[in-house]
Amino acid sequence: MRVLVISDIHSNITALEAVLDAALPYDTVWCLGDLVGYGPDPNECIELVRSLPDLLCLIGNHDQAALDMIPLSRFNRDAGEVAAWTQQILTEDNKEYLRSLASKISLDQFTLAHGSPNQPVWEYILDTHSADRSFAAFNTYYCLVGHSHLPLIFYRPPDIDITAKKYIEWNRAMDLLPRMILNPGSVGQPRDRDPRASFAILDIEANTWEMKRVDYDIQQVQERILDAGLPERQAIRLAAGW
Ligand code: ZN
Repeated sequence: MRVLVISDIHSNITALEAVLDAALPYDTVWCLGDLVGYGPDPNECIELVRSLPDLLCLIGNHDQAALDMIPLSRFNRDAGEVAAWTQQILTEDNKEYLRSLASKISLDQFTLAHGSPNQPVWEYILDTHSADRSFAAFNTYYCLVGHSHLPLIFYRPPDIDITAKKYIEWNRAMDLLPRMILNPGSVGQPRDRDPRASFAILDIEANTWEMKRVDYDIQQVQERILDAGLPERQAIRLAAGW
């Protein structure tokens, strides 16, 4: 079974469509949350995600903000402004869908959480220190997370008390080894200075993980951000990947 693993779409339908195309063939999709926020296409993104085959989908902090489940004061000014706009523009049906999503799921040897297994919605796993804490908080071999918008892999062999950050080899299927924390990067707002949309292919039978990037029409999204009256900074950052 080939699983397309995506995260942090952030209302960017153009990037999402490019990923769904580039990732073919896949049998199922696991989405690690933050379907909305920052970008101009919240309803379109939710509707496309909902239509994906055999989908597993989590709620992220921006999805919760769009539902008014967390105060916008917890966000920076731009993110708060877009969250308020998203609250206005989301259909009731799409809000209902976001409300139905879990913040953490365990499935066979995989734990899925938007941020971390400790605090599924808010905590960032950015370094070996936060990864260490997270390894203690799940029992499966692997944990898949998003939230940081950074493609990352942390590895902690079962008998060794050391967590290491693994170098990412793009377009190369890597053997999964117990235990790992894996972040596929962000579809709609990458922050590793590479503006291309990021995703991963998990092959359950082969037990491999492959990280990939795909170009998309960034200018088109920037125009929609400005047309919607959303903060200009959110358009600028897409082209620079931060
Ligand atoms: Zn996010």
